[in-house]
Amino acid sequence: MQAFYADHFVLPLPTGHRFPMAKYARLRERLARELPQVALLEARAASDGELALVHTPSYIDAVRTGTLAPALQREIGFPWSPAMAERARRSVGATVQACRRAMAGSGLAANLAGGTHHAHADKGSGFCVFNDAAVAARLMQAEHARSHRARGMLRVAIVDLDVHQGNGTAKIFAHDDSVFTLSLHGAKNFPFRKEPGDLDVELPDGCGDAEYLEALERALEEMERRFEPGLVIYLAGADPHEGDRLGRLKLSFDGLETRDRRVLDWAWTRRVPLAFVMAGGYGTDMEATVQVQMNTYRTALGYAARWQSASLAAMPGATVGAAARWHNAAP
Ligand SMILES: [Zn+2]
Repeated sequence: MQAFYADHFVLPLPTGHRFPMAKYARLRERLARELPQVALLEARAASDGELALVHTPSYIDAVRTGTLAPALQREIGFPWSPAMAERARRSVGATVQACRRAMAGSGLAANLAGGTHHAHADKGSGFCVFNDAAVAARLMQAEHARSHRARGMLRVAIVDLDVHQGNGTAKIFAHDDSVFTLSLHGAKNFPFRKEPGDLDVELPDGCGDAEYLEALERALEEMERRFEPGLVIYLAGADPHEGDRLGRLKLSFDGLETRDRRVLDWAWTRRVPLAFVMAGGYGTDMEATVQVQMNTYRTALGYAARWQSASLAAMPGATVGAAARWHNAAP
């Protein structure tokens, strides 16, 4: 299974800044040591043209040149630097590459960062500069249209299980029936003004494993009734964990692992390629956040192996690997 990273583009933060930047490098270090089956690859940067599938040219330009108005820069929550701009592009590039890889027959691939779901078309917010899942969804649709014109528009489900609502993503796709936005999030958590997505599930403070997993089950059933994706982008946020500073929910390590398995299984049983990204995680103990993420990778490896054997079985005479579902009729 391939996973793309960009943590070596270090975004300089002032001392005492509350964003746990070190978690990205730590995840890569642990993956390299403990799960060598995950092939770690440097992400390329998303181009202006790719970003413009979602973002306004003036916003892309202001991020590149460091000319965002101070209030807009503050809303992102990071000070501007050339490294900030580069890193934001690489993080989008990593999700794009993971989607492309999953769509090309491997079935499953990942970004070691990403999940910047608070970014809107014309502004960033809440540690999110560009919306990686949104750009990747639109780019995969464009690439799919070029190579599989007769099969209709690629339909993408963005399954956002970060504890915060994916407000930027919901807004971007508000009038787009070809992308389904599902978000399970804390009702009382940031963002305080939520944007309606295709399916929003609000959870109370203190929500534990059983309640969460039941809500997820119902949400997946409803998505199933309403939408048939040809690609799933999964935001496997670590911030619903009980050890999270910002999450306000109480999921255990086991609960989150069951959550991951449920989503990965949903995609696998329908043979829908899936790319997963890390999204938020603000553990009081950073190692707990990284552990949640490691568990996601360990679970995913099991499914990557299934995709691989299905792909090998389909080999003689097969034109596309792993019998991926391409028949995505436009709505
Ligand atoms: Zn979050």
